[in-house]
Amino acid sequence: MSNQEAILLRDYRPNSELIVPSHKIERPACPVIDIHAHFGAKYRSEHFEARYHAEAVKEALKERGVEKAAALSLFPGLPYNREREKTRVMDGFLYQFAPIDVSRLGERDFEEDVQRQFGRLEDEGVSGIKVWKNLAFQMKVKGRRIFLADARLKALWEEAAARGWPVMVHAADPPAYFKEPDSRNERMEELKAMPKWCYGKDAEISFEGLMEQQERLLQENKETLFIIAHMGSWPSNLGQVGKWLDAYPNMYVDTAACLSELGRQPYTAADFFERYQDRILFGTDYFAGEEECYGIWYRFLETRDEYFPHRAQDFPWGGRWNIYGIQLRQEVLEKVYYKNAGKVLGK
Ligand SMILES: [Zn+2]
Repeated sequence: MSNQEAILLRDYRPNSELIVPSHKIERPACPVIDIHAHFGAKYRSEHFEARYHAEAVKEALKERGVEKAAALSLFPGLPYNREREKTRVMDGFLYQFAPIDVSRLGERDFEEDVQRQFGRLEDEGVSGIKVWKNLAFQMKVKGRRIFLADARLKALWEEAAARGWPVMVHAADPPAYFKEPDSRNERMEELKAMPKWCYGKDAEISFEGLMEQQERLLQENKETLFIIAHMGSWPSNLGQVGKWLDAYPNMYVDTAACLSELGRQPYTAADFFERYQDRILFGTDYFAGEEECYGIWYRFLETRDEYFPHRAQDFPWGGRWNIYGIQLRQEVLEKVYYKNAGKVLGK
């Protein structure tokens, strides 16, 4: 083949010729709580308000069977107030999760400051704490990087436990993000598109190191209920996630942004959902206005459809492969879709 005939990988979009049963699931088998959704600036852009109409989004979600959703983007400061304003018409529909500002870590009044923040969040009607990956591995306080198992952060986990608030943690990114984005990297295309997600050259962090931090967090704070987002940070190694779930009863996981990972291992995933049916919370990582993901999730969880795309959009975020449905039993679906979330949120 001459060079002129060559097709670049980024242009390769084969249409599958596979002919097998295929289902469109517009509504889930029971009500859904999406425990991992975004409505604010941190996830998209500073101009997030212009991207969606809050009332219309609420209706669109309800049409897809989403009875409630957790908004995880709240940030202290200006975007916080703006997001709060933007989503006010969704009060009663949204659970709000908010982060704690730890920039005073190491100062004498750090603990009081944390407590003050919790108090403010309580007044705001917040339901839980969100720990972003900045706190897990990106943030430096006074020039030093901090990690989840930092003993000084205990004030935060203990305060959450005392209030009965769950703490949702984004502890790492996929292992491939910590490797060179070369031709052997299965997430190469997205790393090329988003170089800042590539941690391969950062000597201070490794995927394994972050998993150690995550495990110590669970082990050393047994009274705190953690929802470790993105399938316990390691959807491509459910065997390990299962070992943690066995060892740490304070650990829950959400499914957010893991459709491509779960759907490429349908036998392992189906066994995992069956075994850990009380510990898995349905979450998508949805951003307001992008409702197409729900139908694909329902198809994965409720059918045995084979070899279908894991996202509606064209670019292969999440991996260049198709997925397979795992058709969970009704009882398991109910737990994953809403009952486990209700339990964790104390509703
Ligand atoms: Zn998210």
